Amino acid sequence: MFRVGLGRDLHCLVSGRKFLLGGVEIPFEKGELGHSDGDLLCHAVTDALLGAAGLGDIGELYPDSDPAWKDADSLELLKKTWQRVKAQGWQLVNLDCIVICEKPKILPYRETICRSLAKALEADESRVFVKGKTNEGLGPLGRGEAVEALVVCLLEKEE
Ligand code: MG
Repeated sequence: MFRVGLGRDLHCLVSGRKFLLGGVEIPFEKGELGHSDGDLLCHAVTDALLGAAGLGDIGELYPDSDPAWKDADSLELLKKTWQRVKAQGWQLVNLDCIVICEKPKILPYRETICRSLAKALEADESRVFVKGKTNEGLGPLGRGEAVEALVVCLLEKEE
């Protein structure tokens, strides 16, 4: 049995915060605003996995109204989520991610981000891909006020 999952997240970019993608800190003048550490790529991957496994969504499982998740390490949340999904018998076929922001360039960090996500999901690096896109200068993403992540995953389970 195969199941596909879709995840999407967007966070505002502000000064005085770390810019984190998939658990990797990227040197930049701004970072993601958020109740947690703001790592939107981890959030979108978490939602994609939960969606594919039919286990709910990130807002339900880790509500931002809960002080327990204040400044939470999103990579840890992702690892925890993967353990939940894996416990249902699912294996990761692949994960494909897009990060949309004008700056910084994602390409120099791509391998490190893929490796970090693959490690969190106990998967081979070849199963995880991340690409960066700009928004052609349009809208809040184009003005560098926000960053967005889109993720699709495929899970497989023996029936
Ligand atoms: Mg988020």
